[in-house]
Amino acid sequence: MAEQKAHTDGAPAPTGVAQQRQQQERKLNERMGQIERTVAVLSGKGGVGKSTVAVNLAVTLAARGLRVGLLDADIHGPSVPKLLQLERSQVLSDGENIVPAVYGANLKVMSIAFLIQDKNEAVIWRGPLKMKVLRQFLSDVNWGELDYLVVDLPPGTGDEPLSVAQLIPNVTGAVVVTTPQELSIADVRRCITFCHKLEMPVLGVVENMSGFICPHCGKAVDIFGAGGGRRMAEDMDVPFLGAIPIDPEVVRASDGGEPFVASRPDGPAATAFRKTVDRLIEQIET
Ligand code: ADP
Repeated sequence: MAEQKAHTDGAPAPTGVAQQRQQQERKLNERMGQIERTVAVLSGKGGVGKSTVAVNLAVTLAARGLRVGLLDADIHGPSVPKLLQLERSQVLSDGENIVPAVYGANLKVMSIAFLIQDKNEAVIWRGPLKMKVLRQFLSDVNWGELDYLVVDLPPGTGDEPLSVAQLIPNVTGAVVVTTPQELSIADVRRCITFCHKLEMPVLGVVENMSGFICPHCGKAVDIFGAGGGRRMAEDMDVPFLGAIPIDPEVVRASDGGEPFVASRPDGPAATAFRKTVDRLIEQIET
């Protein structure tokens, strides 16, 4: 009856559900205590390359010999397994611990998609049930010791990304992904305000799909414009981490389940991406 004794300090004893939640939170905090830095990847809306950035960031860090985890918390449309060709991965669970899938030598990967039989199921879960499943899931994943955990959050600034972000303790900071158009920039401003509300430091902004380098003449063509992300970052007083050009290799590699930083490391997107990661690490270290 040790549990009952623990609640003789005047506070009402928690009910079964509250007790379960407390236990999950304790477990989650213990597990996250083994993780040195947690980087959340956000975007003001879908389709700007958030998951592509999250996956390639995790792979780049792992390629530098760091112990890395990648958590696909985009319950709305979990795409990490497809991007890393891990769709057939079976995650092992003994009821208390879920063992993440492994990509390469030192990247552990966990996605809510691993737990769903039917791909469309997550979409129809109602809000509270989604959060309950996610809370349980987060507290059960056994990452072990990590240097970095990269978290792919749901897009936007609505209730869903808010609830998910609140479930993850000790976030070091957020990387905000945008495209250069004014419309995306307006969304990303909301995203930065969202981070401030959550008291999550903004590590920086990445402008993705920023111009197209013609493979024939090497000239840059600004299809969606360029520089909007940098201007917005300056305006909002947050660091600008880098601009990643549109590169057909990104689509080809992603569709084939391969990170573009590995499939064509000397390509324009991969080269720009490495510099962006360098700036991100600089931000974290300082
Ligand atoms: P989000 O997670 O924001 O919804 P995704 O990462 O799924 O976006 O990317 C959306 C699509 O854009 C994918 O088909 C992806 O391959 C493509 N994409 C992302 N970044 C680039 C880029 N720099 N160049 C070309 N295509 C890109």
